[in-house]
Amino acid sequence: MSGPRDDKGGKKIIPNRVPARELDPRERRLNFEEVNLGYDAGQAVREAGRCLNCRKRPCVAGCPVGVPIPDFIASVSRGDFAGAYRIIRSANALPAVCGRVCPQETQCEGVCTVGRKHEAVAIGRLERFVADWRMKEQGAARTQKSPRKSGAPETPDGAGGRVAVVGSGPAGITCAYDLAQLGHKVTIFEALHEPGGVLFYGIPEFRLPKSIVAREMDNLKDMGVLIKTNAVIGRLLGLGELTEQFDAVFIGTGAGLPRFQGIPGEDLNGVYSANEFLTRTNLMRAYRFPAYDTPIKAGRRVAVIGGGNVAMDAARTAIRLGAESVTLVYRRGEAELPARAEEVRHAKEEGLLFEMCTLPVEITGDDGYVSGLKCLRMSLCEPGPGDLPGRKVPKPISGSEFSIPADTVIVAIGTSANPLLTGSARGLRLRRGYIETDDTCATSLRGVFAGGDIVTGSGLTVSAAMGAGRKAAKAIHEYVVSKKG
Ligand code: FAD
Ligand code: SF4
Repeated sequence: MSGPRDDKGGKKIIPNRVPARELDPRERRLNFEEVNLGYDAGQAVREAGRCLNCRKRPCVAGCPVGVPIPDFIASVSRGDFAGAYRIIRSANALPAVCGRVCPQETQCEGVCTVGRKHEAVAIGRLERFVADWRMKEQGAARTQKSPRKSGAPETPDGAGGRVAVVGSGPAGITCAYDLAQLGHKVTIFEALHEPGGVLFYGIPEFRLPKSIVAREMDNLKDMGVLIKTNAVIGRLLGLGELTEQFDAVFIGTGAGLPRFQGIPGEDLNGVYSANEFLTRTNLMRAYRFPAYDTPIKAGRRVAVIGGGNVAMDAARTAIRLGAESVTLVYRRGEAELPARAEEVRHAKEEGLLFEMCTLPVEITGDDGYVSGLKCLRMSLCEPGPGDLPGRKVPKPISGSEFSIPADTVIVAIGTSANPLLTGSARGLRLRRGYIETDDTCATSLRGVFAGGDIVTGSGLTVSAAMGAGRKAAKAIHEYVVSKKG
């Protein structure tokens, strides 16, 4: 075991976690610049020194894509950043992204041995440091093929196939990355005009700069992956045509169809789905209007319904677009907020108001425009028969009705599967609109595989979608090799 020790009894001394540099909240609430500035080299080496390189390495199992975390951290602690990058990249197609947006506190850092008595090793920040270091160091030079790590054997000569990947989110990117590594010719079809899925159209610039996503896409192209944008499968081509033209198809179309509560007033002017609000701002660059031709009206008093990353992103975007007050309305308590802990902290620092244990029951209007949000207070009760175990259940408190004044309401209560492709794919078995797969990501159609939010629903994380893309790549590889062999 390496790591810090005291000079008397050999007992390890764990210093405090190295804090990351961040933009001042007063400054950042006025712009879209990245909030978290990450570590510099000295900070990264110091933080890496907190890792015990412990025998059981629970952090590796906590990572949905199985990054050999202690190995890359050991390289960082020696100042070997290039070596650290090679190790991370052997398992992760999107290290600069994951270092920024993965919910590490519930994944690798959540199980870190150091975290039992101290703050866990800042694995995400270290991953981000290494990925950013590589981008700066290499300048315009692009990634070369990195070591193979898909758990699948090499492709015998001539057994490489042609694979279509539908959707360029984390699931599609990872699937394409692994298959390209294995020697297959991959074409990604993306409905939007920019690739990246939620990484591009959903997560705002101040959390994940689009230049980083674009750079990761360039890395894919350099590996020989063809990316066709403005290509809506189900319209431009059907799934049947793809299966005729390619040896196998992976569907990673996500779950981008907005959901609403179904309460009165959702048709009023001033009501947005978070999906529309964020897509206008991120993909269409509305925050740079009039330089970009997309107007957006954030309003003066904004209420955001929901408690996940999407709600937090929408609320912090509204703050930056100049709203005087932004209130997050969530039916459970603060402890139950599903958003990443760092985003909640950042949102508070930026002045977001929280109405916890609150259920919206009506959006009120005046002359067709939103004037407020009528709500009920909720109490959190122990789960009863028929409820999911472990999670407290919100129950309305009768007579607790109150109103939040608002001219804009943003609904961020989740999304569902878009039926554009699935609705026109004959024989593709679905469950509640999502694609049914077996453990290998194979669907009911031969040669068609699926993974990510389109299989599991929108509660997924970036790394979980990547994990599904990896699993599918392995199965597709085996399918194509046996088909050709
Ligand atoms: P997506 O990322 O949704 O990508 C699907 C792609 O398929 C899209 O580009 C779409 O345009 C394309 N597509 C759809 N239909 C078609 C078609 N018919 N033809 C061609 N292309 C099509 N997770 C985290 O871990 N951390 C976070 O901080 C976080 N924040 C989030 C913030 C927001 C605003 C949102 C919306 C989600 C967030 N998530 C976060 C969740 C995470 O981003 C998703 O779980 C993940 O992106 C799912 O990946 P995917 O590849 O399955 O789908
Ligand atoms: Fe290091 Fe924590 Fe992983 Fe152990 S669990 S190897 S201490 S990062």
